[in-house]
Amino acid sequence: MKDRQLKVVRLIEPELCLECRFAQMADVEMADGTHQRMIHCRRLDCDNWDYQSAADANALDLDDAA
Ligand SMILES: [Zn+2]
Repeated sequence: MKDRQLKVVRLIEPELCLECRFAQMADVEMADGTHQRMIHCRRLDCDNWDYQSAADANALDLDDAA
């Protein structure tokens, strides 16, 4: 998962991505080394992302298939 730049964005309506089949829970290592649980949305055309909130992340550890 190091092949592309990871970005963390705020979800405008988190419920929308949770119900989307492209979403998965993940443990994300932020640029400052802290870990956060969040939704990983793999839908590239998802319009639920607040790009202005984008922040760098170091690593992504996806949960096993739900
Ligand atoms: Zn989404």
